[in-house]
Amino acid sequence: GEANDPVIEEVKPPPLAGANVMNIILVAAECTPWSKTGGLGDVAGALPKALARRGHRVMVVAPRYGNYVEPQDTGVRKRYVVEGQDVEVCYFQVYIDGVDFVFIESPMFRHLEHNIYGGNRMDILKRMILFCKAAVEVPWHVPCGGVCYGDGNLAFIANDWHTALLPVYLKAYYRDNGLMKFTRSVLVIHNIAHQGRGPVDDFRYVDLPEHYKDLFKLYDPVGGEHFNIFAAGYKDSRPCGYCQGIVNGIDMKDWNPQIDVFLTSDGYTNYSLETLKTGKPQCKAALQKELGLPIREDVPVIGFIGRLDHQKGVDLIAEAIPWMMGQDVQLIMLGTGRPDLEQMLRQFENQHHDKIRSWVGFSVKTAHRITAGSDILLMPSRFEPCGLNQLYAMSYGTVPVVHAVGGLKDTVQPFNPFNESGLGWTFDSAEANKLIHALGNCLFTYQEYKQSWEGLQRRGMMQDLSWDNAAQNYEEVLVAAKYQW
Ligand code: ADP
Repeated sequence: GEANDPVIEEVKPPPLAGANVMNIILVAAECTPWSKTGGLGDVAGALPKALARRGHRVMVVAPRYGNYVEPQDTGVRKRYVVEGQDVEVCYFQVYIDGVDFVFIESPMFRHLEHNIYGGNRMDILKRMILFCKAAVEVPWHVPCGGVCYGDGNLAFIANDWHTALLPVYLKAYYRDNGLMKFTRSVLVIHNIAHQGRGPVDDFRYVDLPEHYKDLFKLYDPVGGEHFNIFAAGYKDSRPCGYCQGIVNGIDMKDWNPQIDVFLTSDGYTNYSLETLKTGKPQCKAALQKELGLPIREDVPVIGFIGRLDHQKGVDLIAEAIPWMMGQDVQLIMLGTGRPDLEQMLRQFENQHHDKIRSWVGFSVKTAHRITAGSDILLMPSRFEPCGLNQLYAMSYGTVPVVHAVGGLKDTVQPFNPFNESGLGWTFDSAEANKLIHALGNCLFTYQEYKQSWEGLQRRGMMQDLSWDNAAQNYEEVLVAAKYQW
């Protein structure tokens, strides 16, 4: 459509038919809205629904960390061995938006909803072993709508190291015995920084035949030879030889300024392309008011949301703060993570109370409000497989300034003032002076070229960032996995 086309049209790919319809089971340690620490939870909550819209029968399997309201006890009880102990699990289930959500209940998972990856290395390892053992059996034990999935045209989607054992169990417990021969598995990498590492001897906990030991061995200069669950899942997937990057989508019910439930009170407002010019400033004023910053429409508000971790480049922002504080800006940061970085954020606010607000905590509501009320979103991640916050930002008319790496590079085309194209600003190495240069250009455009700014906002908002796109790409990988098996 035209650049000023006021309607966002959701382009839905046609649903699949017949032989291409799959049974898909996505297995993840977290799943929005029940559990979430980051992007993985969002993906597990939304991708399955989009796959179901394409005609597949889709299930999500996650641990039951709390007393969730909707999922009901199926009555199915099973026992699995973890570290020599028999552990009983129950399976809970609920059908929502075309997807079967199955939760595995065990005392090992209970009360962890705010601490999913908490505990010592052995605790976490045992949880993930139990989870993967229980999940690989789901197609046989857990009736959904009265019928178990079985193994007909079945594909598992495992995610990160927590569930990288699943493809290995599928092979060792089933395929090596001539069972589930056509069931395939895909391992999705959301964050490769965590790999489930331990001493080589940890192999004894995973209950696999001795000849599987090498699969778990990895050598690197830092850790030497060690036990690595992610490596096992990865090597196990390798024979298939198929590897592809997929950009995540946005859950258009959750992250949509038109219907965002967190923008309906406290002075905020829902807005769309048509009401951008009044709605967004209103959200900005509400945000400034809520956080006790001077309420000024002309000052650019810069937001940051993310885990406080070396990955996210918070230290680059720290280095840039003296420069930033020389500009007429407001900076709002939301995050939790490394205690020293949390402390650093609090200190920023104390030192520059007229310009900085630091919210140390995990607040989905605040994340939505910052996304809506900011003019600029800063994302200087050192690495970023995909990144969701820059996508949310663009769909809210908030212009991203990002380190050009991974998914950030793929999704934020740099602004080109000569032909008025692009979506934001990028810098090509993770250094504070590069960040300052990019942010400086961004602020200059914000102040001096209102038309260009509005173009950036509109182009960001008009993109189709829905999960329907991403689901189609996932489907291609699943189909390719099938034919290469
Ligand atoms: P990652 O998965 O590496 O954490 P992503 O950008 O892919 O990074 O996803 C992060 C998700 O977690 C986003 O939905 C973001 O809004 C959310 N998030 C991160 N930190 C917080 C926080 N402190 N409060 C609320 N939401 C947060």
